[in-house]
Amino acid sequence: MRYPMSFTMAQFKHRRKMEKLGNKRFPTVLMLEPLYTCNLACIGCSVERHTGKLKDRMSLETCFKAVDDCGAPIVNICGGEPTLYPELKELIEGLIKRDKHVIVCTNAIKLDSKFFGNIPPHPNLFLMIHLDGMRKTHDYVCNKEGVFDRAVEMIKQGQKLGYTIYINTTVFKETEVSEVEELCKMAEELKARGILVSPGYEYESVEKDVFLTREQIHDKFKNIRDFSGKYRISATPVYLEFAAGLRELPCAPWSTVNYTPMGWKAPCYLVGDKFTADWETFWKDTNWEYWESRVDSHCQNCKMHSGFEHSAVEEAMKTVGGTLRLTAWSLG
Ligand code: SF4
Repeated sequence: MRYPMSFTMAQFKHRRKMEKLGNKRFPTVLMLEPLYTCNLACIGCSVERHTGKLKDRMSLETCFKAVDDCGAPIVNICGGEPTLYPELKELIEGLIKRDKHVIVCTNAIKLDSKFFGNIPPHPNLFLMIHLDGMRKTHDYVCNKEGVFDRAVEMIKQGQKLGYTIYINTTVFKETEVSEVEELCKMAEELKARGILVSPGYEYESVEKDVFLTREQIHDKFKNIRDFSGKYRISATPVYLEFAAGLRELPCAPWSTVNYTPMGWKAPCYLVGDKFTADWETFWKDTNWEYWESRVDSHCQNCKMHSGFEHSAVEEAMKTVGGTLRLTAWSLG
Protein backbone atom coordinates (compact mmCIF):
# COMPACT_ATOMS: atom_id res chain seq x y z
CA MET A 1 0.00 0.00 0.00
CA ARG A 2 1.17 3.50 -0.79
CA TYR A 3 0.20 4.71 2.69
CA PRO A 4 -0.38 2.53 5.76
CA MET A 5 -4.01 1.49 6.20
CA SER A 6 -4.40 3.44 9.48
CA PHE A 7 -3.27 6.65 7.72
CA THR A 8 -5.76 6.22 4.88
CA MET A 9 -8.55 5.26 7.29
CA ALA A 10 -7.89 8.29 9.52
CA GLN A 11 -8.44 10.57 6.51
CA PHE A 12 -11.47 8.64 5.33
CA LYS A 13 -13.13 8.72 8.78
CA HIS A 14 -12.39 12.43 9.15
CA ARG A 15 -13.92 13.16 5.75
CA ARG A 16 -17.07 11.16 6.64
CA LYS A 17 -17.36 12.90 10.01
CA MET A 18 -17.08 16.35 8.40
CA GLU A 19 -19.63 15.44 5.74
CA LYS A 20 -22.07 14.25 8.42
CA LEU A 21 -21.61 17.56 10.21
CA GLY A 22 -22.41 19.30 6.92
CA ASN A 23 -18.96 20.92 6.67
CA LYS A 24 -18.13 21.67 3.06
CA ARG A 25 -14.66 22.90 3.98
CA PHE A 26 -12.42 21.33 6.60
CA PRO A 27 -8.70 20.86 7.20
CA THR A 28 -7.22 17.38 6.85
CA VAL A 29 -3.58 18.37 7.23
CA LEU A 30 -2.00 20.90 9.55
CA MET A 31 1.37 22.19 8.37
CA LEU A 32 2.81 23.04 11.77
CA GLU A 33 5.93 25.20 11.69
CA PRO A 34 7.18 25.39 15.28
CA LEU A 35 10.32 27.25 14.27
CA TYR A 36 11.79 29.21 11.38
CA THR A 37 15.36 28.16 12.19
CA CYS A 38 17.22 25.95 9.71
CA ASN A 39 20.67 24.49 9.16
CA LEU A 40 20.36 25.08 5.41
CA ALA A 41 19.40 28.04 3.22
CA CYS A 42 17.95 26.28 0.17
CA ILE A 43 17.49 28.42 -2.92
CA GLY A 44 13.81 27.50 -3.25
CA CYS A 45 12.94 28.40 0.36
CA SER A 46 11.56 31.75 1.47
CA VAL A 47 14.03 33.81 3.50
CA GLU A 48 11.83 34.03 6.59
CA ARG A 49 11.46 30.24 6.73
CA HIS A 50 15.14 29.60 7.43
CA THR A 51 16.47 32.72 9.16
CA GLY A 52 14.37 32.68 12.35
CA LYS A 53 15.99 32.61 15.77
CA LEU A 54 15.57 29.51 17.91
CA LYS A 55 14.41 31.64 20.83
CA ASP A 56 11.40 32.72 18.73
CA ARG A 57 10.14 29.14 18.36
CA MET A 58 6.66 28.20 19.45
CA SER A 59 6.06 26.69 22.85
CA LEU A 60 4.68 23.17 23.05
CA GLU A 61 1.48 24.61 24.51
CA THR A 62 1.05 26.85 21.45
CA CYS A 63 1.64 23.92 19.09
CA PHE A 64 -0.92 21.74 20.85
CA LYS A 65 -3.50 24.54 20.93
CA ALA A 66 -3.17 24.93 17.13
CA VAL A 67 -3.50 21.16 16.69
CA ASP A 68 -6.60 20.96 18.90
CA ASP A 69 -8.21 24.07 17.41
CA CYS A 70 -8.00 22.90 13.81
CA GLY A 71 -8.75 19.20 14.42
CA ALA A 72 -6.88 17.86 11.36
CA PRO A 73 -5.98 14.15 11.69
CA ILE A 74 -2.58 14.64 10.04
CA VAL A 75 0.10 16.96 11.39
CA ASN A 76 3.03 17.73 9.14
CA ILE A 77 5.84 19.19 11.25
CA CYS A 78 7.93 21.43 9.03
CA GLY A 79 9.45 24.86 9.35
CA GLY A 80 12.47 25.56 9.57
CA GLU A 81 14.13 22.27 10.30
CA PRO A 82 12.07 20.25 12.82
CA THR A 83 15.06 18.27 14.15
CA LEU A 84 16.41 21.58 15.52
CA TYR A 85 13.27 22.06 17.62
CA PRO A 86 14.45 21.17 21.14
CA GLU A 87 11.01 19.92 22.22
CA LEU A 88 10.45 17.68 19.17
CA LYS A 89 10.23 14.45 21.18
CA GLU A 90 7.56 15.88 23.50
CA LEU A 91 5.71 17.37 20.53
CA ILE A 92 5.58 14.03 18.68
CA GLU A 93 4.58 12.16 21.85
CA GLY A 94 1.76 14.62 22.48
CA LEU A 95 0.52 14.33 18.91
CA ILE A 96 0.55 10.54 18.96
CA LYS A 97 -1.33 10.63 22.27
CA ARG A 98 -3.96 12.69 20.43
CA ASP A 99 -4.10 9.91 17.81
CA LYS A 100 -2.67 12.13 15.09
CA HIS A 101 -0.59 10.86 12.20
CA VAL A 102 2.66 12.78 12.24
CA ILE A 103 4.90 13.56 9.28
CA VAL A 104 8.30 15.05 10.08
CA CYS A 105 9.49 16.97 7.04
CA THR A 106 13.28 17.09 7.26
CA ASN A 107 16.50 17.69 5.35
CA ALA A 108 17.82 14.67 7.29
CA ILE A 109 21.17 16.22 8.22
CA LYS A 110 20.65 15.85 11.97
CA LEU A 111 18.60 12.67 12.05
CA ASP A 112 21.30 10.49 13.59
CA SER A 113 22.22 12.96 16.34
CA LYS A 114 18.77 14.41 17.16
CA PHE A 115 16.15 11.86 16.15
CA PHE A 116 17.28 8.23 15.88
CA GLY A 117 17.66 6.74 19.34
CA ASN A 118 15.66 9.60 20.86
CA ILE A 119 12.27 9.30 19.16
CA PRO A 120 11.33 5.67 18.50
CA PRO A 121 9.52 4.45 15.36
CA HIS A 122 5.74 4.36 15.70
CA PRO A 123 2.99 3.31 13.24
CA ASN A 124 1.67 6.91 13.29
CA LEU A 125 5.07 8.49 12.61
CA PHE A 126 6.60 9.13 9.18
CA LEU A 127 9.79 10.77 8.06
CA MET A 128 9.50 12.86 4.89
CA ILE A 129 13.01 13.44 3.61
CA HIS A 130 13.75 16.16 1.09
CA LEU A 131 15.66 15.16 -2.03
CA ASP A 132 15.22 17.66 -4.83
CA GLY A 133 17.25 15.74 -7.40
CA MET A 134 20.32 13.57 -7.64
CA ARG A 135 23.62 14.63 -6.00
CA LYS A 136 24.58 17.64 -8.16
CA THR A 137 21.08 19.14 -8.32
CA HIS A 138 20.16 18.50 -4.70
CA ASP A 139 23.40 19.99 -3.38
CA TYR A 140 22.86 23.00 -5.66
CA VAL A 141 19.27 23.48 -4.48
CA CYS A 142 20.38 23.10 -0.85
CA ASN A 143 23.27 25.48 -1.40
CA LYS A 144 25.66 23.07 0.28
CA GLU A 145 27.83 20.20 -0.85
CA GLY A 146 27.41 16.78 0.73
CA VAL A 147 23.73 17.17 1.66
CA PHE A 148 22.59 14.55 -0.86
CA ASP A 149 25.01 11.89 0.39
CA ARG A 150 24.07 12.68 3.97
CA ALA A 151 20.32 12.35 3.25
CA VAL A 152 20.84 9.01 1.48
CA GLU A 153 22.88 7.74 4.40
CA MET A 154 20.14 8.81 6.82
CA ILE A 155 17.47 7.05 4.72
CA LYS A 156 19.51 3.83 4.91
CA GLN A 157 20.00 4.16 8.67
CA GLY A 158 16.34 5.05 9.22
CA GLN A 159 15.21 2.00 7.25
CA LYS A 160 17.39 -0.28 9.35
CA LEU A 161 15.95 1.23 12.52
CA GLY A 162 12.36 0.63 11.37
CA TYR A 163 11.14 4.14 10.51
CA THR A 164 8.61 4.65 7.72
CA ILE A 165 10.29 6.91 5.18
CA TYR A 166 8.98 8.94 2.28
CA ILE A 167 10.94 11.15 -0.09
CA ASN A 168 9.71 14.59 -1.07
CA THR A 169 10.90 16.02 -4.38
CA THR A 170 10.20 19.48 -5.70
CA VAL A 171 10.59 19.99 -9.43
CA PHE A 172 12.25 23.29 -10.37
CA LYS A 173 12.92 24.97 -13.70
CA GLU A 174 16.36 23.34 -14.01
CA THR A 175 15.17 19.86 -13.03
CA GLU A 176 15.47 17.36 -15.88
CA VAL A 177 12.62 14.87 -16.05
CA SER A 178 15.12 12.05 -16.57
CA GLU A 179 16.61 12.95 -13.20
CA VAL A 180 13.20 12.71 -11.55
CA GLU A 181 12.91 9.17 -12.90
CA GLU A 182 16.41 8.36 -11.65
CA LEU A 183 15.33 9.58 -8.23
CA CYS A 184 12.17 7.44 -8.33
CA LYS A 185 14.33 4.40 -9.11
CA MET A 186 16.64 5.28 -6.25
CA ALA A 187 13.68 5.66 -3.88
CA GLU A 188 12.71 2.07 -4.74
CA GLU A 189 16.24 0.81 -4.19
CA LEU A 190 16.37 2.59 -0.83
CA LYS A 191 12.99 0.98 -0.02
CA ALA A 192 11.31 4.30 0.71
CA ARG A 193 7.57 3.84 1.18
CA GLY A 194 6.89 6.41 -1.55
CA ILE A 195 8.08 9.52 -3.30
CA LEU A 196 6.05 12.71 -3.55
CA VAL A 197 6.89 14.62 -6.72
CA SER A 198 5.38 18.09 -7.04
CA PRO A 199 6.11 21.35 -8.86
CA GLY A 200 8.04 24.09 -7.08
CA TYR A 201 5.88 26.94 -5.90
CA GLU A 202 6.80 30.55 -6.00
CA TYR A 203 7.21 32.14 -2.58
CA GLU A 204 6.96 35.89 -2.26
CA SER A 205 10.50 36.23 -0.94
CA VAL A 206 12.80 33.96 -2.89
CA GLU A 207 15.80 35.57 -4.50
CA LYS A 208 16.46 33.15 -7.40
CA ASP A 209 14.02 32.53 -10.23
CA VAL A 210 13.86 28.75 -10.05
CA PHE A 211 10.12 28.25 -10.40
CA LEU A 212 8.13 26.91 -13.30
CA THR A 213 5.41 28.67 -15.26
CA ARG A 214 2.13 26.84 -15.68
CA GLU A 215 3.14 25.67 -19.19
CA GLN A 216 6.52 24.44 -17.97
CA ILE A 217 4.80 22.49 -15.19
CA HIS A 218 2.50 20.88 -17.75
CA ASP A 219 5.39 19.86 -20.00
CA LYS A 220 7.43 18.30 -17.21
CA PHE A 221 4.49 16.57 -15.56
CA LYS A 222 3.23 15.09 -18.84
CA ASN A 223 6.54 13.22 -18.96
CA ILE A 224 6.52 12.41 -15.25
CA ARG A 225 2.99 11.06 -15.59
CA ASP A 226 4.14 8.77 -18.39
CA PHE A 227 6.48 6.88 -16.10
CA SER A 228 4.55 7.37 -12.83
CA GLY A 229 2.90 3.93 -13.07
CA LYS A 230 6.26 2.22 -12.66
CA TYR A 231 7.00 3.77 -9.25
CA ARG A 232 5.36 4.41 -5.90
CA ILE A 233 4.64 8.08 -6.46
CA SER A 234 2.61 9.45 -3.57
CA ALA A 235 0.49 11.95 -5.56
CA THR A 236 -2.86 10.60 -6.79
CA PRO A 237 -3.49 9.97 -10.52
CA VAL A 238 -6.01 12.83 -10.74
CA TYR A 239 -3.51 15.24 -9.18
CA LEU A 240 -0.87 14.16 -11.73
CA GLU A 241 -3.37 14.74 -14.55
CA PHE A 242 -3.97 18.22 -13.15
CA ALA A 243 -0.22 18.88 -12.88
CA ALA A 244 0.15 17.74 -16.49
CA GLY A 245 -2.53 20.22 -17.61
CA LEU A 246 -4.96 17.47 -18.62
CA ARG A 247 -7.76 18.66 -16.34
CA GLU A 248 -8.68 21.59 -14.10
CA LEU A 249 -9.38 21.53 -10.38
CA PRO A 250 -10.44 24.19 -7.88
CA CYS A 251 -7.95 24.93 -5.15
CA ALA A 252 -8.77 23.73 -1.62
CA PRO A 253 -6.39 25.82 0.50
CA TRP A 254 -8.49 25.12 3.61
CA SER A 255 -7.69 21.39 3.38
CA THR A 256 -4.04 22.01 4.38
CA VAL A 257 -3.80 24.83 6.89
CA ASN A 258 -0.56 26.40 8.02
CA TYR A 259 0.29 27.52 11.55
CA THR A 260 3.51 29.53 11.74
CA PRO A 261 5.46 31.45 14.39
CA MET A 262 3.46 34.50 13.18
CA GLY A 263 0.07 32.78 13.56
CA TRP A 264 -2.37 31.17 11.10
CA LYS A 265 -1.23 31.95 7.59
CA ALA A 266 -4.01 32.81 5.11
CA PRO A 267 -4.87 31.64 2.61
CA CYS A 268 -2.24 28.89 2.21
CA TYR A 269 1.29 27.63 2.77
CA LEU A 270 2.45 29.71 -0.18
CA VAL A 271 0.65 33.03 0.15
CA GLY A 272 0.77 34.98 3.39
CA ASP A 273 -1.93 37.49 2.64
CA LYS A 274 -2.76 37.71 6.34
CA PHE A 275 -1.57 36.19 9.64
CA THR A 276 -4.11 35.68 12.40
CA ALA A 277 -3.54 34.80 16.03
CA ASP A 278 -6.69 32.79 16.65
CA TRP A 279 -8.19 29.89 14.73
CA GLU A 280 -11.82 31.12 14.69
CA THR A 281 -10.92 34.47 13.12
CA PHE A 282 -8.64 32.81 10.56
CA TRP A 283 -11.27 30.26 9.58
CA LYS A 284 -14.22 32.69 9.45
CA ASP A 285 -12.48 35.70 7.95
CA THR A 286 -10.56 34.07 5.10
CA ASN A 287 -12.44 34.44 1.84
CA TRP A 288 -12.18 30.77 0.85
CA GLU A 289 -14.46 31.13 -2.13
CA TYR A 290 -12.12 33.73 -3.62
CA TRP A 291 -9.00 31.57 -3.15
CA GLU A 292 -10.72 28.43 -4.44
CA SER A 293 -11.38 30.26 -7.71
CA ARG A 294 -7.61 30.82 -8.36
CA VAL A 295 -8.25 34.25 -9.86
CA ASP A 296 -5.64 35.90 -7.67
CA SER A 297 -2.35 36.69 -9.40
CA HIS A 298 -0.49 34.55 -6.82
CA CYS A 299 -2.41 31.51 -8.01
CA GLN A 300 -1.59 31.78 -11.70
CA ASN A 301 1.39 29.40 -11.76
CA CYS A 302 0.41 27.40 -8.70
CA LYS A 303 -0.15 23.67 -8.87
CA MET A 304 0.97 23.08 -5.31
CA HIS A 305 0.23 19.58 -4.07
CA SER A 306 -1.12 20.75 -0.71
CA GLY A 307 -3.61 23.05 -2.43
CA PHE A 308 -5.01 20.58 -4.92
CA GLU A 309 -4.72 17.00 -3.67
CA HIS A 310 -7.94 17.29 -1.66
CA SER A 311 -9.79 18.43 -4.80
CA ALA A 312 -8.18 15.61 -6.79
CA VAL A 313 -9.50 13.02 -4.33
CA GLU A 314 -12.98 14.64 -4.30
CA GLU A 315 -13.01 14.58 -8.09
CA ALA A 316 -11.98 10.93 -8.21
CA MET A 317 -14.68 9.95 -5.72
CA LYS A 318 -17.48 11.52 -7.75
CA THR A 319 -17.79 8.39 -9.88
CA VAL A 320 -17.59 4.65 -9.19
CA GLY A 321 -14.86 4.32 -11.82
CA GLY A 322 -12.86 7.11 -10.22
CA THR A 323 -13.24 5.62 -6.74
CA LEU A 324 -12.09 2.21 -7.99
CA ARG A 325 -9.10 3.79 -9.72
CA LEU A 326 -8.20 5.67 -6.54
CA THR A 327 -8.54 2.49 -4.47
CA ALA A 328 -6.35 0.53 -6.88
CA TRP A 329 -3.79 3.33 -6.78
CA SER A 330 -3.69 3.41 -2.98
CA LEU A 331 -3.25 -0.37 -2.83
CA GLY A 332 -0.39 -0.21 -5.35
S1 SF4 B 1 -3.80 28.23 -5.96
FE1 SF4 B 1 -1.88 28.02 -4.84
S2 SF4 B 1 -1.43 30.14 -4.22
FE2 SF4 B 1 -3.59 30.10 -4.75
S3 SF4 B 1 -4.65 29.68 -2.82
FE3 SF4 B 1 -4.31 27.73 -3.86
S4 SF4 B 1 -2.44 26.93 -2.97
FE4 SF4 B 1 -2.50 29.14 -2.53
